[in-house]
Amino acid sequence: MVGQGKLSKSIMMEGVVAFGYMGKIVEVDLDNNKIDFIPTEKYAEKFLGGRGIASRIYWERVKPETKAFDRENVLIFMTGPLVATSVQGAARLSVVGKSPMAYPEGYCYGDFGGFAGAELKRAGFDGIVVSGISPKRVYLWIHDEQVELRPAEPIWGQNAYGVEEALQQAHGKNTKFIATGIAGENRVRTAVLVASHHATANGGFGAVMGSKGLKAIAIKGNLKPSVANPEKLKELNNYTVRISKRYQIHRFPRQHLIERVGNGHCYQCGLECIRGLYRIPSGRQDYRKCQSMAVYSPWVYGNEDEPVDTFFDGSTMCNDYSLCTIDISGIVGWLHRCYNKGYLTEEETGLPLSEIGTRHFFDKLLQLISYRNGFGDILAEGLYRVRDQVNESAKKLVPYFVAPIGIGAADSGRRNRAHAILSAFEPRASRPLQHEIDWLMWRWRANQATPEHSQVTYEVVRSIAEQFWGSAEAAKLSTYEGKANAAKRTQNRVCLKDSLGLCDFAWPIMDSMNTFDYVGDPNLEAEIFQAVTGVDGKQLELFAERIFNQQRAIMVSEGRQAPEEDRPPEYNFTVPTETENFVPGHDGKPVSTLGSLLDEGKFKEMIGEYYQLRGWEQTSGLPYRKTLVDLGIEDLAATFEAAGYQLPTSYIIT
Ligand code: SF4
Repeated sequence: MVGQGKLSKSIMMEGVVAFGYMGKIVEVDLDNNKIDFIPTEKYAEKFLGGRGIASRIYWERVKPETKAFDRENVLIFMTGPLVATSVQGAARLSVVGKSPMAYPEGYCYGDFGGFAGAELKRAGFDGIVVSGISPKRVYLWIHDEQVELRPAEPIWGQNAYGVEEALQQAHGKNTKFIATGIAGENRVRTAVLVASHHATANGGFGAVMGSKGLKAIAIKGNLKPSVANPEKLKELNNYTVRISKRYQIHRFPRQHLIERVGNGHCYQCGLECIRGLYRIPSGRQDYRKCQSMAVYSPWVYGNEDEPVDTFFDGSTMCNDYSLCTIDISGIVGWLHRCYNKGYLTEEETGLPLSEIGTRHFFDKLLQLISYRNGFGDILAEGLYRVRDQVNESAKKLVPYFVAPIGIGAADSGRRNRAHAILSAFEPRASRPLQHEIDWLMWRWRANQATPEHSQVTYEVVRSIAEQFWGSAEAAKLSTYEGKANAAKRTQNRVCLKDSLGLCDFAWPIMDSMNTFDYVGDPNLEAEIFQAVTGVDGKQLELFAERIFNQQRAIMVSEGRQAPEEDRPPEYNFTVPTETENFVPGHDGKPVSTLGSLLDEGKFKEMIGEYYQLRGWEQTSGLPYRKTLVDLGIEDLAATFEAAGYQLPTSYIIT
């Protein structure tokens, strides 16, 4: 046993955040093999949980100049108050830290689904803060309110699922885990964290964990958080299941070869979901979910002789090494194009490029990157950074829309004006932000094609826009009116989801097959929050504003220039969209987005309106001092000032 700690009764939480939380956050100091506990109350009253609390701790502890692999970087895992309380679609565990994948390295967040977050609460804790670098390789064993650091030599050098097996042998079959594979040990910038039940969190945090000498976290417990009003919560859970019924997106490439044979639900979730147990013709079955399923499919699909197993196994193979499926998918596509054009050869890469689409190629690629061997050392930097290290011709074939973290392609204000604001304030390409509008549009387009399947007519979109985005104007996606408010409301809702522990697939419930007008319920999260915690649900808006301003302060302190860099990637203004897509136009009728661009002047007007809605000065994008004071976060003013900004004091809305 390397280090251990046990909870002292004196820090058990009382008062306003007594329900929904376990009351303490584990603090692990790897430099000194020391374990301590922080009362969750210290942060929860202002920053709620999940991403909110984790970002606040990051702001307190990680200096702007700290690098991702420095011992001063802190890796923070945080659940939200709804996790493990029986709330539907509430199983998320947020991760925050300085990301090696960000460009330049900087603050970032990610999160997991599955079981790890709920198990952490069942073990008695709301979160884990890991600092320092362990002199010996260790793993963390958290169980029944106890925390120990244990030697990890036997599991170092193993991939994620081997680690899971070893931890279950050591601590019992029901042990849940978070681990990094060989890619994380070797500081592959894009390495993910892998957790029980096929869950992953990207952002390069697998590499951060590996750099700290921390191989895994094993978790087991039998506790549960108390709920303020269990009867009301039961009623709301039933209501959630009923109105969450929507026209679902259950589509995979090669779907005809994959059979869904069961559900693959996260902890306590009974909602209809793409996450499931799938079987292929050879009889093998495993859990799968959305994007990762497609990591290698386009190339396998073009290869008639390759067994379907190769495509099916692609995401598991990546997870096992702890490699990011989004980045790997981009790398395979780029290598394919470079090889076809003759810009990269098998000799210089050490890869069987003529065999792209086979298992042999994929195995070799993942191995080369994970061990940083030869050309794999360049690829281990991630596709975004690859551009700096290859010949000019190969560099030109890296798609212009590649983002340092996440899927950049859909990050486009060209298609949807509100997206231009959404992507301007994040440290990463964020799918949850895009999904809120994109998934509704997907159902609206389905209605245009097959009205019997989807009830989302333009009238339904307009009602949703009024209730969720602040105005009917926001429903006309090709125009600029109403989009500043739509963006702000979307950002706030995603901040809350990540901080409460709610899942992006399930929340918000904007449309429904089971309501009279096919519109979902914009107040449901607030009602559930109140039933769980006993705190007035109206407080959620305040939490969201604080969390968003906190993120703004962190990003500005790390070099984000306000207002110059408050804009989406430049191609939105200069490269017309190449794909045909339809959105509701100014008269509500479908309008094609082909050839569309963002208009510089109209974007400027939109962003000015957005600043005002946030309580920021219209031209500088800096928060008024009063805004911070009203939110109870005036200490952020010093962060802006340290970054060279003078906060405006007069509060004039024009
Ligand atoms: S809706 Fe799906 S992804 Fe979300 S919590 Fe439920 S099972 Fe998990």
